Amino acid sequence: MNTTQLRQLDNAHVWHPFTPMLEHGREDIPVIVSGDRFHLIDTDGRRYLDGVSSLWCNVHGHRVLEIDKAIREQLGQIAHSTLLGLDNVPSIRLAAALVRRLPAGLTRVFYSDNGSTAVEAALKIAYQYYRQRRTRPENRELFVSLSGAYHGDTVGSVSVGGIDLFHGIYGGLLFKTLKVPSPASYRLPPGHTPQSWEAHCLAELERVFAAYRGKIAGFVIEPIVQGAAGILVHPPGWLTRIRELTRAEDVLLIADEVATGFGRTGTFLACEQEQVVPDLLCLSKGITGGYMPLAATVATEEIYDAFLDEPAEAKTFFHGHTYTGNPLACAAALASLELFEQSGVLGNVRDISALMARRLTELSDHPHVGDIRQKGTMVGIELVRDRADKSPYAATERLGHRVVLAARQRGVIIRPLGDVIVLMPAPAMPAGLVDELCSATFQAIRDVCGSA
Ligand SMILES: *Cc1c(COP(=O)(O)O)cnc(C)c1O
Repeated sequence: MNTTQLRQLDNAHVWHPFTPMLEHGREDIPVIVSGDRFHLIDTDGRRYLDGVSSLWCNVHGHRVLEIDKAIREQLGQIAHSTLLGLDNVPSIRLAAALVRRLPAGLTRVFYSDNGSTAVEAALKIAYQYYRQRRTRPENRELFVSLSGAYHGDTVGSVSVGGIDLFHGIYGGLLFKTLKVPSPASYRLPPGHTPQSWEAHCLAELERVFAAYRGKIAGFVIEPIVQGAAGILVHPPGWLTRIRELTRAEDVLLIADEVATGFGRTGTFLACEQEQVVPDLLCLSKGITGGYMPLAATVATEEIYDAFLDEPAEAKTFFHGHTYTGNPLACAAALASLELFEQSGVLGNVRDISALMARRLTELSDHPHVGDIRQKGTMVGIELVRDRADKSPYAATERLGHRVVLAARQRGVIIRPLGDVIVLMPAPAMPAGLVDELCSATFQAIRDVCGSA
């Protein structure tokens, strides 16, 4: 089938995620047919640098020998069998390997398929934990989360999310949660400095914890970096304070490391940057090196213990998915973890992070670059109509989208968050390619917004 035929069938039958389909039908989107380490190749043979790790999940590149081999070997054994009433080899080996690599205390691995389900499971575990814990069982029905937070698209994970657009559309379906302001804000309310804003956010959190004492089951947070909010980076020490507060208030800390995990921020987990150990940890995107859908919700012994009793007591975690612990995905994840040990991925992240930080200074005087945010390989470049008053472009200008199209002309695939241009090279991408990614993206920004 040629590209035109494939596009016709796509337009006839495929409903794309987060995509205005009317516009999609008017644009000639590349049809990807293969990958070659850090490049994507389309049906017309064009090569594109994969500038956002195939939506934040690819780690070591595409068609990595070690991961390909692990999947093929597992395929020679079995592709799938259930974890309901049966064990399988890769899911056992992966759980043990993960626990070895995670902060001490996180020992119980509950598998699911994607980031949203990892969060969904964490919410239900937290809720049930308080009802069933041996000392002081309680009914706690509230969760606290940050404004602008993104935790996925299922109803529970949207409920704890803080993106106004989604709450506007799906509000009637969602359960009640408590929102506190995020300390990472480019547009501060009048009269605030970053320091006074951070103090205000902490005070707000303390107020909410006090007002709802005994009613809050968990505080859900993307540690260090709020990804989908526009790559917002929290001030140093914020996560530590959250850990202290949640511990003092007896509220579970649920760390959603779906985006930040597996090296993206410079450490294996973002939590490690402040030596914070959450009570529940959500992992997905990078867990298989970006190869297959898999997620894990990892709990402490204390939480797990609340679910241990005779079947008749009905303390079981009544939750699970058909493909829970899928052997092919677990085999890919094991191979990816081994590559973390062997190939110096985290060292490469340090090098390419420093390189991007250097290159990004080229944009610091551009009249339409309002803010540049970076943590490790996660970069957000916020484009504004007016740098001085931080006023945004009109949504109808589709500026971020136009920059992405210009970048594609220059052989680079990126995807924006509104008018925030996101760069997220795979943690293992070599410096030379990261340099190319910066050049093409900066040039695309100049193509669309004018040169400084
Ligand atoms: C992507 C993301 C999710 C949702 O993961 P899916 O696999 O898309 O369901 C949840 N939390 C964070 C922080 C994410 O970036």
